[in-house]
Amino acid sequence: MTTNADLHQRYRAVLPSYLKPLYADPISIDRGQGGYVWDVEGNRFLDFFGGVLTTMVGHNNPAVTEAIQHQAAKVLHTSTLYLSEPMIELAEEIAAISGIPDARVFFTTSGSEANDTAMLLATSYRNSNEVLAMRNSYHGRSFTAQAITSHSSWLSTALSGLSVNFVHGAYRLRSPFRHLDDDEFTEACTDDLRQIIDMATTGDVACLIAEPIQGVGGFATPPDGFFGSLHKVLANRGILFVSDEVQTGWGRTGEHFWGYQAHDIVPDMLTFAKGVGNGITLAGIVARAEIMDTITKLSFSTFGGNPLSTAAGLATLRYVRDNDLQGNARRMGGRLRDALAPVVDRTPWIAELRGRGLMQAIEMVVPGGIEPDADRAGRILEGCKQRGLLVGKGGLYGNAIRITPMLDVSEAEIDEGVAALVDTIAEIDGRE
Ligand code: PMP
Repeated sequence: MTTNADLHQRYRAVLPSYLKPLYADPISIDRGQGGYVWDVEGNRFLDFFGGVLTTMVGHNNPAVTEAIQHQAAKVLHTSTLYLSEPMIELAEEIAAISGIPDARVFFTTSGSEANDTAMLLATSYRNSNEVLAMRNSYHGRSFTAQAITSHSSWLSTALSGLSVNFVHGAYRLRSPFRHLDDDEFTEACTDDLRQIIDMATTGDVACLIAEPIQGVGGFATPPDGFFGSLHKVLANRGILFVSDEVQTGWGRTGEHFWGYQAHDIVPDMLTFAKGVGNGITLAGIVARAEIMDTITKLSFSTFGGNPLSTAAGLATLRYVRDNDLQGNARRMGGRLRDALAPVVDRTPWIAELRGRGLMQAIEMVVPGGIEPDADRAGRILEGCKQRGLLVGKGGLYGNAIRITPMLDVSEAEIDEGVAALVDTIAEIDGRE
């Protein structure tokens, strides 16, 4: 039998050292069913990370599996040189639900490539290479996506053809304005944005790109309306707003279908990836036609919008909408928060519980302040694994735990996951 240890040895021998599997003894996931996965040794885990928010409607979801099998038996690839029906149909559905008027959709194969495209469009449309992004951001691993990333753990290079300034505000716990109330905090960050534009740019800035809730950044969540306030400054100057919905899209935040909707704005563009294919490679960008069509040369993505991905995307999206999984995310996210909030309140080394819907995180600190405590976060990760629960790690200092169940998670699964988390926290406290 193949073991996790064998595979770890082979992984290390052939893959780059900058790839780091989770856990001291990494596991290989062999198969999944609904909210559960099994490793190659037959151990079962409740999956509250979903391959980084990507397996959105459960492993081996029958509707998605059937759509993939059906499409695979017909044709796997055609490209945008031909009129692929699943691609056109998915583009129609995404355009209609994007909230963006006169929307056009361009499919890519990854979130990084979608954000690259957003930068290409914004800089071309505005004829400027100046861009704003948020502190603690992550937008991908490609060269352009790295330029708009500020989260230093995931930043491989500072070289770029873009001129980027990073704005305050998305990560409130470590903001110099953290002592202010919601409105004052938003105002202080809005002032900072005005200053950055006036004092650090030519004024002709192409766009601001932001994650409504920062994913890799540990689900850092600004106050509602925050981006609405920034947007007013941007709109006055003709600067575009790009919402990176790679983690916050498709109803995961419960109260909204898109993360931007907590801010009373409509972005000029949004980018998507991860959950919409339920694990099949599918990503893209939605923009108003006048912005999308700013590219007048020919363009092409060999795999973007391929029939297999878009068939999976259509099945996933329909499953989300037909089963009101946004509503389930709101209800189950509430159940998760209600159960965790009192534990967080009484635990001095957990600074806060933050996030929305089925996108919740806790951040570990040294008691009495906000000095990051990555060690305790690591112990939570390992302790949950021992109890049969997979969660994610994240945050600027690797000191946050990310909890992101499937959108169709049941009450019983939430309770099972919470029990594993609470027991682990008690064990670290020496109370178990
Ligand atoms: N944007 C956000 C907000 C992300 O979380 C990620 C991936 N973690 C990306 C972009 C990049 O997506 P990909 O890994 O598909 O390139």
